[in-house]
Amino acid sequence: MLLSGNMSDESPAAFSLELGDDLVEMRDWLHGFAESVIRPAAAEWDEREETPWPVLEEAAKIGLYSLDFYGQQYLEGSGLGIPVAFEELFWGDAGIGLSLVGSSLAAVAVVANGTPEQIGEWCPQMFGSPGDVKLGAFCSSEPDAGSDVGAIKTRAVYDAAAGEWVLNGVKTWATNGGIANVHVVVASVDPDLGSRGQASFIVPPGTPGLSMGQKFRKHGIRASHTAEVVLSDVRVPGRCVVGGQERLDERLARVREGGRSGEQAAMKTFEASRPGVAAMAVGVARAAVEYATEYARTRVQFRPSGGQNQAVAFMLADMRAATDAARLLTWRAAWMARQGKPLASAEGSMSKLVAGRPRSG
Ligand SMILES: Cc1cc2nc3c(=O)[nH]c(=O)nc-3n(C[C@H](O)[C@H](O)[C@H](O)COP(=O)(O)OP(=O)(O)OC[C@H]3O[C@@H](n4cnc5c(N)ncnc54)[C@H](O)[C@@H]3O)c2cc1C
Repeated sequence: MLLSGNMSDESPAAFSLELGDDLVEMRDWLHGFAESVIRPAAAEWDEREETPWPVLEEAAKIGLYSLDFYGQQYLEGSGLGIPVAFEELFWGDAGIGLSLVGSSLAAVAVVANGTPEQIGEWCPQMFGSPGDVKLGAFCSSEPDAGSDVGAIKTRAVYDAAAGEWVLNGVKTWATNGGIANVHVVVASVDPDLGSRGQASFIVPPGTPGLSMGQKFRKHGIRASHTAEVVLSDVRVPGRCVVGGQERLDERLARVREGGRSGEQAAMKTFEASRPGVAAMAVGVARAAVEYATEYARTRVQFRPSGGQNQAVAFMLADMRAATDAARLLTWRAAWMARQGKPLASAEGSMSKLVAGRPRSG
């Protein structure tokens, strides 16, 4: 199945907390993979701080690490495909989980705004195939432009004579950055227009001028590669601007005339990805509650009094409640986004806020 550029072209699905049979089957399948493949590999790859290629290979063999799988979940009618999938993978291990889903974040950047030709040409190359696994990287963040995407300094200049875009700048914190087959880079085409003057560019495999800067050592999520990406006179064909040259020209003309841009490349991708990121945190939280509960059940020190036992039980109950509350906010935001409803009260951000808050009681 190939991803469609239009992510909300089906009739709306009613909100329900009861997962359909397909989602239950997918959840149980991923849970089995997380338990039998991810968890046993987690400590080794966390120590190595590298992409766990053998795990990606196993996942590719069973169709999990594939454009088809993520495409199905992103397009799943209720919107709960991605939250359910990400929760299970991150329940297994956050680092390996991010390695398994990192390429899909780059694919979404192309699917959300790209032409059918671009989706068909580049997205499969972000995953490769069993025996020849590949990666995709989405490069938006810069040292001085994280949440504030309008501050992006990376420049894209069109060389009309050559019919090529020339990219220059430094990206930071890019998952799979510098080791990916295909990079999707957000750059400013017209700095005077701020975030409305930006576009995303596909950098094909082996393009000269793109290199990896420093690879970051992290305190967590270590089995996922995070690095700087240096762009030095990177030349990409005109057809590599996501959405196509014509649409970009029209959009820029509209903005210059004082109209609305209709889209902001990076913001659109972030908006669609927020409940997915919250679901990652829900998976980590669920695993933590389970570990803590097991620990509290089995560890006995100094014959604790009933009161002490109760104090621990209260903490565990609060952690369970907070995890379920985060999941509910995540599912609501994911459902709204999939039905094309505006997240007017920051429902996507709310889900990330609550799911990402560390809780110990
Ligand atoms: C493991 C990992 C993988 C990553 N992978 C990628 C990737 O693949 N591609 C990519 O482009 N980036 C990636 N990032 C970067 C990530 O997207 C940024 O860290 C994120 O956008 C936040 O930017 P920042 O770190 O500059 O923090 P800042 O934007 O400086 O935010 C710092 C703090 O200020 C708060 N804040 C920010 N703006 C406001 C505001 N207006 N009002 C109130 N509070 C505010 C934030 O919530 C946060 O708590 C990754 C990061 C990590 C840790």
